[in-house]
Amino acid sequence: MKAADIVQQLDLEDIHIVSVVGSGLSKASGMPTFRGKDGLWKTYSALDLATPQAFKKDPNLVWNWYKWRMQALLTAKPNPGHDALVKLEKMGLSLGIITQNVDGLINFGNSSEHIVEIHGRIRYAHCTKCDHIQRWDSHEYAVADDSLLYCPYCKDALLRPDVVWFGESINPKHLQKAMNWIERSTIMLVIGTSGTVYPVANFPHIAKQQGTTLIEFNVTRTPLTPICDYFMRGPSEQTLPKFVDALLSKKV
Ligand SMILES: [Zn+2]
Repeated sequence: MKAADIVQQLDLEDIHIVSVVGSGLSKASGMPTFRGKDGLWKTYSALDLATPQAFKKDPNLVWNWYKWRMQALLTAKPNPGHDALVKLEKMGLSLGIITQNVDGLINFGNSSEHIVEIHGRIRYAHCTKCDHIQRWDSHEYAVADDSLLYCPYCKDALLRPDVVWFGESINPKHLQKAMNWIERSTIMLVIGTSGTVYPVANFPHIAKQQGTTLIEFNVTRTPLTPICDYFMRGPSEQTLPKFVDALLSKKV
């Protein structure tokens, strides 16, 4: 469906948008998928590496994989889809963004009040012992194979990527914040998510039940498509800016 036709049918007097974001949004920024195409990581899957057990068994292996991913991330830039979400936020139409992406490409500068990175942040590492958190997204760390990162305070305690691994729980504060936005939302944008990873896959269902209008942006239909009110087919770096511009042209 065309952006202008969708906007025509929305209640523009009462706009409170919550966005649910998946990996499709970052695809055009050149983010590698979990499984590496080159020889080094070909035989591993995320399930082998992104778990507390894997880290305990072989922290070097896990860190080397994250460093390989970080090298790609260091040159990745936000795409027009990310920019469109930032624009919505600046216009005061967005309650919040719930993203499954750990890449930090939705960039609000220093303010993070209106974004919940529900699966964590790959650019940060936290201490396995104390509360210390630090960035590690620099070339210096990313290329240093087989060197582990240690906490500057605990000395002998390892740092680990600040992401939610398989088998770990989502931060309850993040969940609470997300639910709060969903409860107050009138429109939910469902962007580039496969709709199969929980708890995020539940969010559109919860929003639907309370009467929120659902608009999906994806290259292909997903398990969420049947409950969405509108579907914009195509890469989200193209469809999302079109929708946001159409909305802002009516709203302003
Ligand atoms: Zn520490």
